[in-house]
Formats: sequence, structure tokens, C-alpha cells
Amino acid sequence: MEKRVQGVGVSAGSAQGPAVVVVSGKAVAPVVEGGADPASEAVRLDSATERVAAEIENRAERAEGSAAEVLTTAVLMAKDPTLRTKARERVDSGLRAERAVWEAAEEFCAALEASGGYFAERVADVRDIRDRLISDLTGVPLPGVPELAAPSILVADDLAPADTATLDADLVLGFVTREGGPTSHTAILARSLGIPAVVACRDLDGVADGNCLILDGGSGQVTITDDSSVVMTNPRARPKHLDYAGTLSDGTPIGLLANLGEPSGVPTARDVRAPGVGLLRTEFLFDGRTSAPDAEQQRHVYEEVLKAFTGGRVVIRTLDAGSDKPLAFVREDTSPNPALGVRGLRVSVAQPELLDVQLQAIADAQERSEVEVWVMAPMVSTPTEAEWFSAKARERGIRKVGVMIEVPAAALQADRILEHVDFASIGTNDLAQYTFAADRMSGGLAELNDPWQPALLELIATVGEAGRRRGKPVGVCGEAAADPILAPVLVGLGATSLSMTPRALPAVGRALSRMTAPECGQLAKRALIAATPETARAAVSQEIASE
Ligand code: PEP
Ligand code: MG
Repeated sequence: MEKRVQGVGVSAGSAQGPAVVVVSGKAVAPVVEGGADPASEAVRLDSATERVAAEIENRAERAEGSAAEVLTTAVLMAKDPTLRTKARERVDSGLRAERAVWEAAEEFCAALEASGGYFAERVADVRDIRDRLISDLTGVPLPGVPELAAPSILVADDLAPADTATLDADLVLGFVTREGGPTSHTAILARSLGIPAVVACRDLDGVADGNCLILDGGSGQVTITDDSSVVMTNPRARPKHLDYAGTLSDGTPIGLLANLGEPSGVPTARDVRAPGVGLLRTEFLFDGRTSAPDAEQQRHVYEEVLKAFTGGRVVIRTLDAGSDKPLAFVREDTSPNPALGVRGLRVSVAQPELLDVQLQAIADAQERSEVEVWVMAPMVSTPTEAEWFSAKARERGIRKVGVMIEVPAAALQADRILEHVDFASIGTNDLAQYTFAADRMSGGLAELNDPWQPALLELIATVGEAGRRRGKPVGVCGEAAADPILAPVLVGLGATSLSMTPRALPAVGRALSRMTAPECGQLAKRALIAATPETARAAVSQEIASE
């Protein structure tokens, strides 16, 4: 028996091994029983909520990095006032607590589903909390991810955050899920652990424990076979550290750097041996506050991060607020389409004091550290904006000033933009979203946001070419850089550095250290002449395999 099914690859790499099918953890709808006492049911509801939140909190304390983040979000979901209030209303009208939780969660999920995109992908998280609450209230244990005894590929409808977050990563060869999208937590977790994953793989009927699976987390293809000669991937052979001399095999220097969303990611980046940071997102400094932190507070945090990469390079991106990243002290964009409204650098233009304070803080941290500090602006659309930002940053004493290329207009005008700045860094996540007019958070539009899309590759080539002409560095710091097959293509298109989630660095380093610059150029040509993402990926994979 051999069956091939297609999903969406969300974490690159291949894996082969036996399937462990995760029995859906969904609870059965509790029956409606009358005659419950609202007061005692309210107490039961509150105690269950506290216990469930405490249990996940406990796991969060034991987890690290993005696993801890996923669990912290799950704790918030367990305590979510919307869910709690909806359940409480039903308890007050005479329902038993378990039925109240069920109905409240269904109403909440329907609203999330109707909102689509990112919100719809949170439905699995709400159902996970629902099931934990009902299990606690009824005493019926939850099914879920079994304790793994041997290296396996996990197959599930979707994986609950609380289950996946404490998995023994050394025993997980890969993930395959029927549901989910590129931003579902399974995808985020898999990428952060460097484990191959395929989501939205609808046709998994008939897959049973022990079936052998071969999955490609890049192309999204999954093969189900009973061929016993398939050799299992050795998870311990997965490289854990970046072993890369900083150059391709012919000595061409190509930087490999980590992306960081907050200082808590520093230990993982150091652990992987990342020599520096290619994208420090600074939104964490501003999130959840009623006013922006002052220059002194900011400087302190930058200094802490810089200290961890002494002798290396850290690229700091100025505040990227607005749209999906709202902040209390950033004037609300009331336009009907905020993703196309005042966001990224446009917020700094509208409220320049925010940028001035941030640039001052970065300049002060730069003076106190022994790190090459580069600073770049998000969401730049025109050469005029690049010139404006560059002047502001240089006024404050920033030595290396750049911009992100995330808007197609900026990619097309890269040559003029580079006239004003020292470097550019391509944010492929947003560049894809704006090129295809396809929300990057939408699972249903994942195929358009595929970084192998020919139109995206052409825009990257335009920027790479402009960088070569002007002799200025061009980095790629979107998720595309984390794919070890795409990485040499990006270099061939003109990228002089790549930065990515730290755990992806070892595999990308291994891939690049085997290539020469002309080979990368050849792979880029192959990708550029392909008509579809699938044929581009297949042609490049084939060429690499034949070398
Ligand atoms: C990008 O858009 O590719 C990027 C790196 O920035 P962010 O993901 O933070 O929007
Ligand atoms: Mg972006």
C-alpha cells in the first residue's frame, strides 16, 4: 500500500518513521440536566477554571522559548473573560457547569470562525480549554498525545497547545495535521523546534498507528506506506548547533543570523550558536502598555540583548505598530482596512516622537556595546520615506541605517531606496501578503503566501540585483529564509545574509556550507523560470540532489 496526500508544508525538512495517531481530545457535549443550583455550579465553574489555568501555568513554567509562549497564551485563554462570562450566564440560568462551558465555548468559537484568518485559527485553542474544563468537571480523563516510547510522526486533527508544548522533541520526527494553517500553534512550535511539519492535510483517513509516513515539510507532501524497508529518520541526527564558517564553500561570505521577538529568545539563539541577530522585533517593549517606555528604559533592554552578541551584529527594527499590532498610545487607525492603513513606518511619520525616543535609546545602547548595531525601519514604501528615516536615524548617531522591503512598490524601487540607506532587508512574510493581496494569517490562503511563488521570487531578485549594483547588503529576514532548500536560491537571487527563527539555523547552515556562489546562482535561475511554486521547488530539489 502506498498513498500520497498533499498538505501545506509549514516547517521545512523531511522525516520518515512510524505514525502515532493522536485520538482527538474533543469532549462529548454534556447532556442538558435541569435543576442545578446556580450558586454551587458557579463555585464548581470557578474552581475548575482555576485548576485548569494552574495546571497549564505549571507546564508553562517548565517549558522554554515559544513552547512557554504557547502555554502562556493557553493560560490566558483558560481565564478569558469572554468564555467565563458566557459560561457564567448559562450557569445563572440553571445549567450545570459542564453544559454551560460547552455552550459558551461553541458560541465563542462560532464568533471566532466568522471573523476568519488569525481568529479562526484560535478555535482549536478555545476547544482545548473547553475540553480541559469539562474533563475537570466530569472527572473523565482526556484523550490526547500519548507518552511517546519511540521516535514517531504525530498525526492529529490539530494539536492542542497544552499537549504539544511539553512533548519530548527528541522523540518527535514530524507533525502532520488535518487542520491548521501556517500560523496555527503547531506550525509555530514545529518551526521553533526545527521539526518538519505539514498542516491542512485533509485526506488522512485510514492512517493508523505504526503506518510508515514520509513527509516533506517544504512541499507539503506526505506518503503513507506499509513498506517496511523505509529507514526511519534519526531525530538525534538533527543538527542542534549552527556549524557554519560564515561563508559558502567557495569562501563567499553569507551571514546567518537569528530573528528575535523578545529578550527571552536570547538563550535559545545563544544555545544554537547564532553569531548575531538579523531581526530584533521591538514591539515587545511597547505591548500591553498605556504609554511608550522612555529612552532610558528602552536603552537598558537593548543593552541587555546586545551584550549577548558581543563581537557580532544585531539588526534592530524600529517599532512596527498598527493593523494587527495595535497599541494603546498609537492613535487608532479608523480606516476600513487597517492592514493598508497607518502601520509600520507610517505610525512613526504620524507620531515622530515615538521614533525619536526609540532611535535615541538605540544610539545610546550602541555607544555602550561592542556590537555592530544596524537599525532598520519596517514597511517602507517609497524612496522618500527611506530618505526621511535615514536622516532621522543618522541625526541621532546611528551608524548603519537600513529599511525593510515588505511592500511591492519598495521592491520595485529598491535601487532608488538603496541610494539613501546602507542596507535593505526583505521581509518576505509581508512582501508575500501585499504582493498577492492575501492575508498572511489565513490558512485558506497559504498557497498564495508560499515563498516559492514566482512573483515573490522575481521581486526578491529585483532587490538583490539593486543591492549588487550598489554594492550594499541585502538580507532576507522573513520565514522564507528558514527553508534549507530555498536558502541557496535566496542567496542566488542576491541575498547577502539570511535570518530566521534560531532553531532553523543549523539546517540552513549545513545546506549553505555545501554550495558555491555559482551553484546558488544556478538554483536561482531554475526557480525563476518555473511557472508555479511546486515546479520551482521540485526543480531546485532535484538539482540539489543531483549535485
Ligand atoms: C516580514 O514581514 O517578513 C517580517 C520579517 O516582519 P514581521 O513578520 O515582523 O511582520
Ligand atoms: Mg513585516
